[in-house]
Amino acid sequence: MNLKSIRVRLTFWYTSLLTVTFLILAGTTNWLLVYTLSQDVDASLNSVAKSLIEQARKSSNPFFPPDIDGVFRRFFGYSPLDRYFQMLDPTGRQDPQRSRLHTGKLPISPKVIENASKGLPTYETLEGLGKYPVRILTVPIIESGRIVNMVQVGMSLKNMHETRRRFLIITLLILPVALLLASGGGWLLARRALKPVDNMTEAADRISAEALSDRLEETGAGDELDHLAKTLNSMLGRLDSTFKQIRRFSADASHELQTPLTILKGELEVALRSERTPEEYQGVLNSALEEIDRIAHLVEGLLLLSRADAGVLRMDKKPVDLSQVVKEIHAKAKILADTRGVILRLDHVEPVSMLGDYERLGRLLLNLVENGIKYTPAGGQVTLSLKKEQNGALIEISDTGIGIPLDEQDQIFQPFYRANEARAQGEGGVGLGLSIAGSIAEAHEGRIEVESTPGQRTVFTVFLPYQNSRKSPM
Ligand code: ADP
Repeated sequence: MNLKSIRVRLTFWYTSLLTVTFLILAGTTNWLLVYTLSQDVDASLNSVAKSLIEQARKSSNPFFPPDIDGVFRRFFGYSPLDRYFQMLDPTGRQDPQRSRLHTGKLPISPKVIENASKGLPTYETLEGLGKYPVRILTVPIIESGRIVNMVQVGMSLKNMHETRRRFLIITLLILPVALLLASGGGWLLARRALKPVDNMTEAADRISAEALSDRLEETGAGDELDHLAKTLNSMLGRLDSTFKQIRRFSADASHELQTPLTILKGELEVALRSERTPEEYQGVLNSALEEIDRIAHLVEGLLLLSRADAGVLRMDKKPVDLSQVVKEIHAKAKILADTRGVILRLDHVEPVSMLGDYERLGRLLLNLVENGIKYTPAGGQVTLSLKKEQNGALIEISDTGIGIPLDEQDQIFQPFYRANEARAQGEGGVGLGLSIAGSIAEAHEGRIEVESTPGQRTVFTVFLPYQNSRKSPM
């Protein structure tokens, strides 16, 4: 048995608490029993004493009624064998004329005499008169304001002691049995309640990075364990999609790197197979340089994304005039737009200043504008605008191009994702441009939204807050 298990600890605590409760209960009941029985004995002794005094008043001789048994029986329900009664004079001596019928000899304490002189009754419990203690009541008899005699009645507390002994024996017999039953029941209950935890542990043991699609069983009971299973399942879901994303990312990245490398290798091998003219070598080297540029561009993009993912994307934030960035990107992209026969328009550029990284913000805009030009057929139009909003700047890049289907709109920001339509166009992108743009916007606490009608138009909206608190890693 594992002593550290919750089941054992729960049973231990449960049994301990139950034992303490039982003991407190038994102690209280015992005290109450003794208290009630004592009160009963005192009340009965008082009644017997009153009855004897009453009779003494009515007829002085004989003082005690012959049917003393009857008097005890009347008030106690039985006549105790060890009963005591005697008549004393005010000093505490037995009354010689009225002692004929007394039984037993009771000691008189100074306290009794003192109380009697004040007209007060005294209750005492005396030990040593017999096997059991004896309860004695002494009542003074007052006539015309003077103490004429004292009546003492007493009885052995045998019955009370017997009742208490029986109670203690029964309690001591019941207590271990009750505790045994309760702790056994507690153990079974704890086992039953924690069974789903065992099942969950087994199921969780089976789940590994390779089998993240497995889920824990949800009982649907709506209890804490069901809630825990649901929470763990949703965490597994998130882990699963993150793992899938990472795997896809590395597979895509290696594929994208492999293509230009294969081309490069092939071109160089072919060039080396036979003697070439200097012009031919130059052509091969130019083409190789193009592939190397492509690889360098890709590696740079991957590096930027992985840094952004790790939260270590370095930003050189300074006050930036965004209208300057927009105008510069417009001028840069104009060359590409002209070669493709696309009209690139600059519309409504307001002066906006914000804290940001000039180079990175330029990269963000260039990626979006280049996309607009790439995915707009010749004769179409791409428009750039910058507006000043209350909390930040709003840059809009709209085009009249091929558009993006609704079901692909939230996926295009994932690395290497390329919409089907774009692939069909044969554009040479790798699918990193929007992820990079998204990461840069995020590093400025901004966001990029897309709105598009396939076959008609696409609008990318970039919102950049004026103040962004996120610190750039050094
Ligand atoms: P790339 O352009 O290199 O393929 P991006 O990450 O820049 O990669 O874009 C991802 C995909 O989003 C593109 O392949 C394309 O399908 C879609 N896309 C982006 N911008 C536009 C646009 N302006 N019009 C239509 N489709 C677009």
